[in-house]
Amino acid sequence: MNIVLMGLPGAGKGTQADRIVEKYEIPHISTGDMFRSAIQEGTELGLKAKQFMDEGALVPDEVTVGIVRERLSKQDCEQGVLLDGFPRTVAQAEALDEIMSGLGRKIDHVINIRVEHDELVKRLTGRRICKECGTSYHLVFNPPEQDGVCDKDGGELYQRADDNPETVNNRLEVNMKQSEPLLAYYGDKGVLTHIDGQQDIEVVFEDIDRLLRGN
Ligand SMILES: [Zn+2]
Repeated sequence: MNIVLMGLPGAGKGTQADRIVEKYEIPHISTGDMFRSAIQEGTELGLKAKQFMDEGALVPDEVTVGIVRERLSKQDCEQGVLLDGFPRTVAQAEALDEIMSGLGRKIDHVINIRVEHDELVKRLTGRRICKECGTSYHLVFNPPEQDGVCDKDGGELYQRADDNPETVNNRLEVNMKQSEPLLAYYGDKGVLTHIDGQQDIEVVFEDIDRLLRGN
């Protein structure tokens, strides 16, 4: 079963991805991991990607798509994959369809974990990190016993610059704009399912699981 997992930052994609790959025993393929291993293995495309990254440039689609093709051609992907972070654009989605059909496969499900904007902001701005040990807390979901203080070592908790409301809003805006055409593309293909990501983590997974079992 080949799945594309979508969702804005803070939607809980990582948690659900872990559960899906555990239950369905398919590899979790994220763009970051794919790049890292292609670079580590020193493949031609990996080296090309590294060159762009070292220059601080965006890796062009032809390189990214090539790396995806190589990864999907490996044996561990034969029973299915969970793609996360790819595709990001309609052009990449079209390239992915081509790769898949070349392998005699197709994307069976695109799962979009949907969470309202205000809730995402709450989730993303609530994170606090210990200056001493780096332990991560959340004001709402995982608060420390004492305000502003690490449970483990009494270290001061701080908010990363990336987690302030303005940066979070911008990040969400950019991601939303980017994902809209992609959601439309998969919607037209009839493979898209929205999952309510504001429910308990367990219930979100039950919904996903029910969808995948119906396959
Ligand atoms: Zn600490």
